[in-house]
Formats: sequence, structure tokens, C-alpha cells
Amino acid sequence: DPRIARISSSIRIIPDFPKKGILFQDITTLLLDTKAFKDTIDLFVDRYKGKNISVVAGIEARGFIFGPPIALAIGAKFVPLRKPKKLPGEVISEEYSLEYGKDVIEMHVGAVQAGERALVIDDLIATGGTLCAAIRLLERVGVHVVECACVIELPELKGRERLEDKPLFVLISG
Ligand code: IMP
Repeated sequence: DPRIARISSSIRIIPDFPKKGILFQDITTLLLDTKAFKDTIDLFVDRYKGKNISVVAGIEARGFIFGPPIALAIGAKFVPLRKPKKLPGEVISEEYSLEYGKDVIEMHVGAVQAGERALVIDDLIATGGTLCAAIRLLERVGVHVVECACVIELPELKGRERLEDKPLFVLISG
């Protein structure tokens, strides 16, 4: 698809952010390119429209940028999966391990119902720990996670393997 090359070249790589040795993939420059941004949303919408998805669950923070336009276009609701202590209502939480230490994502109780079909979206999959936690959180309340979607995959970190049998769709790998 010729749209992928433009999306890929609109993403800026910043070395040593947030710490030395990390090549940070910065999608804020993709958002500045109106064609690349629209093509990104269109590619996801084309894949998920008509698939009976009632929930788009976006992971803080960049899943909050890509998730809502997709949700609106496919007629699904948008549910934010947030870092701890951000959501004001009653929450359920899921812990996951990082390279050093732990992190938690939270979702409002009552945001989703058992039996709903969800798409989980984020900007990037690295080790897959964040997406795995999101899947566990949704499945604990009886939601079927149809697929996970990201703009970028870092394949050398093998996040896809960590997702096991859960389908992962990405626009750019590598
Ligand atoms: P994982 O849990 O190791 O797969 O890391 C994925 C999470 O870290 C996602 O929420 C990403 O937004 C974030 N992340 C990791 N590396 C990058 C990067 O280079 N650019 C943007 N986000 C990143």
C-alpha cells in the first residue's frame, strides 16, 4: 500500500529519549502531516468497519489520539485505559512488569459489558507487556478482544510472541 511509505517517513526518530540508548519513535510528526494522519486512520477503519466491534479501548497516552477517530468511524464507543489514579470513578486494575519495576493500567467499572467485542489500540508495541495487560483487563470482565492494533511494531522485541494467539495488526514493522 503506497500510503504506508508516507506514514513511515512522517514518524520522527529521536535518539536517547527518554533515556540513553533508546531510539524513540515520535508519532507527533505524523499528526502534523494531514495526509499521513488521515491515511493512518483510514487504514484502521477499513480493516475494522463491519466487524461488529462495539468498543475501541485506547491505551494512555497515544492510544487516545488514534482510538477516538477510529471508534467514531466504525460506530464503536471509546474506552480509555489509563495509568493509575487518573480515572475518577471506580476502577479495575491490571498490573504488568516493566524492564525495571511494575506498572498498572486501569479501566472504569461499567465502561464495558460482558460479551462485547473490542479492538485495543496503541501507537507502538515493543515488548507487548502493555497490550497483554490491556487484554487481561478486558477479558477479566468478559469482553472478547478481537484484535490489537498499533501504528508501529518493534519486531526485535518479540511483543507479537508475547500476545500468543491474539491477532496483532500493525502498519509499520521495524
Ligand atoms: P511495551 O509494553 O514494551 O510493548 O511498550 C509499549 C508502550 O510503550 C506503548 O504504550 C508505547 O506508547 C510505549 N513506547 C515504547 N517505546 C516507544 C517509542 O519508541 N515511541 C513511542 N512509544 C513507545
